[in-house]
Amino acid sequence: MAAPTEEFSSERLVIGGGLAGSLLALALRERGLAVTLLDPGSGDTATALSYGVIPGWPLAATALARLAPQAGARWRALEDRHGALGWHPAHWRLPLPVSQVDGEAFGQRLPAALAAAGVEVRRGQAQTLERSGSGWRVHLVEGPPLQAAQVVLAAGSGCRALWPDLPARLRSSWAGVLQLQARPPDLSPDQLQLPLQFQRPELERRAPELEAEAWIVDPGVVPRGRGALVGQLTLVRPAATGSGAPADPEPDPQRMEQRLRQGLEPLTSAWQAVPARYRQACVSFCSEGQPLAGPVAGAPGLWVFSGFSGGFAQVPVLAPLLAACLADPGGPALDALQRLGVLPQAAG
Ligand SMILES: Cc1cc2nc3c(=O)[nH]c(=O)nc-3n(C[C@H](O)[C@H](O)[C@H](O)COP(=O)(O)OP(=O)(O)OC[C@H]3O[C@@H](n4cnc5c(N)ncnc54)[C@H](O)[C@@H]3O)c2cc1C
Repeated sequence: MAAPTEEFSSERLVIGGGLAGSLLALALRERGLAVTLLDPGSGDTATALSYGVIPGWPLAATALARLAPQAGARWRALEDRHGALGWHPAHWRLPLPVSQVDGEAFGQRLPAALAAAGVEVRRGQAQTLERSGSGWRVHLVEGPPLQAAQVVLAAGSGCRALWPDLPARLRSSWAGVLQLQARPPDLSPDQLQLPLQFQRPELERRAPELEAEAWIVDPGVVPRGRGALVGQLTLVRPAATGSGAPADPEPDPQRMEQRLRQGLEPLTSAWQAVPARYRQACVSFCSEGQPLAGPVAGAPGLWVFSGFSGGFAQVPVLAPLLAACLADPGGPALDALQRLGVLPQAAG
């Protein structure tokens, strides 16, 4: 095979243009820093299938969970700066503040927001990373490699294939939903029909002890564009971690759809009458609930931003802090990330 001839060089490369990579790229541009965002731009992703729900109250007793309710204000600030991104207040069955980012609107408006903010977007899939001088060379599945002084892994469930020695708490699951072509008549555009208690966080916590695959359904319906999403099926496998760990292969969609439909039987809503398409995606999460945001140990210039369980609430509050760290790696923002318990390795 002919060696690539043209190498593209940038100061900062973010691998993965889902929610995490895109909001980090915008936060870097807010600081006036140059950034290139690499994404294949195809296939179902966690961000594309997400409900996008943002609870306005802490879901746990951690420092990050106490910060996450500021996400609604952060989404408003993002929209003031970059234009509409699909954020809107919503209603749940309890009188608690809740909002949602409409996945369809977000997907449609994000490319223009990134372009207007000056983010250089490149289509492509990273295959391997290699130290090169004081930075990194990123080899792509197709095309010449990219060279950057700082590289951020924001590739969701694709992060571990790129850097196997990420902390063991970073894992992956498969999520399945039905996408409805129209909104069911009993669902208003700002209404969230969701369970009071989700089983997914408990399954994610149990992931390290699993000896066989386990799956659960959290029955719910949320609006999306002119349609809706009905779900959610979560499948977790006892994945091996560390060097040479195999990827989480795609499960049989027909079997997954059957499991989802079975789990949805108790859901009393008019959704069954609407034509639906089953969709699934591999999703990253952290088994201890704390995502990863910070420098990768033993790999100067390599950073990670992944493993969110509730990315729409966590990413908007963490992205500005990580951007501050990337701008000034020894500065105070690193302490802030440490206090939030999200550093890949506790600073010594
Ligand atoms: C059904 C469902 C419902 C959810 N509901 C909610 C909710 O209500 N509220 C909430 O906060 N969160 C929710 N989540 C979780 C939320 O969607 C995720 O936390 C968030 O989208 C993760 O974003 P990400 O950018 O880290 O990952 P992803 O969306 O997976 O993005 C990763 C990106 O990296 C790219 N990529 C992968 N490998 C490579 C590579 N080698 N080279 C280049 N690019 C690569 C992928 O193509 C993708 O675009 C839900 C998720 C699902 C599936």
